[in-house]
Amino acid sequence: MNEPLIATPSRTRAIMKKYGLVTKKSLGQNFITDTNILTKIVATAALNTETSNVIEVGPGIGALTEILAQNAKKVLAFEIDNRLIPVLADTLAPYPNVTVLHEDVLKSYLEKRATEVFGENPQVKVVANLPYYITTPIMMHFLESNLDVTQMVVMMQREVAERITASPNSKAYGSLSIAVQYYMEAKVAFIVPKTVFVPQPNVDSAILSLTKRATPLVQVTDEKEFFKLVKGAFQLRRKTLWNNLLRLYGKEEVTQSWLKEALASATIEPSRRGESLSIEDFANLSNALVVLKK
Ligand code: SAM
Repeated sequence: MNEPLIATPSRTRAIMKKYGLVTKKSLGQNFITDTNILTKIVATAALNTETSNVIEVGPGIGALTEILAQNAKKVLAFEIDNRLIPVLADTLAPYPNVTVLHEDVLKSYLEKRATEVFGENPQVKVVANLPYYITTPIMMHFLESNLDVTQMVVMMQREVAERITASPNSKAYGSLSIAVQYYMEAKVAFIVPKTVFVPQPNVDSAILSLTKRATPLVQVTDEKEFFKLVKGAFQLRRKTLWNNLLRLYGKEEVTQSWLKEALASATIEPSRRGESLSIEDFANLSNALVVLKK
């Protein structure tokens, strides 16, 4: 007889009981117990059983992994919690297209792992219910890797999703918005109420869909300098851009005249706040800083 899906409340309860599992808050363990949400996630990722290679972060007891396995060609899942490895071997036994690695995803050499599982130069989609305590580092780990990530469909705290998709002059807009929007087109696909998780988190969640841009949103001559500038500009949000720039680059006279010249060439008033600068403004300023560097 076929078992009910892992994500059904009764099966989740049975699995947790069988293994004596108690979720760990420190690892961001909130398991989904709603198959409709999972179906919506998979539909957002537009998976295909012939072509889609999917990476999942944190399979937990396999609720999302199971649906991914049914809808993708291959699934590679990273799970840090050693207690879950035998559980996953059991729950995902019917799915030979799933590879579970007992590894901290942040320490993983993603390109190497993906090649081992999917073959040379794979295109991948990342689909995951992320551990919330490290949402941003995980996103950046994928974006900054050389992996060809065509789409990410990821669940996170609603507030973080709003920061990622924010526009200039809003409270949520910051270096995270720019870091992600530089590489990806980002939109909130749908909101997920906290009631679908075991245990329930304190806040609502959102599914964010991110699609890779063919080229970054703006042309930047030195990416490292660009991201350093963006981070620095938001360091003290209440201060002006000028104050943040002095903090970032130093107050020496030659530095100040270099900064003034670059600001003038990018037509940006030093008295503005970082949050009023568009991504284009940041690119112009960063490029001017690089060109005018003595
Ligand atoms: N995918 C499951 C679900 O939706 O029911 C579980 C999601 S739960 C929010 C996050 C999962 O990420 C947990 O299983 C946790 O152990 C795992 N995790 C936490 N930190 C991790 C890390 N650094 N690397 C890999 N997995 C991690």
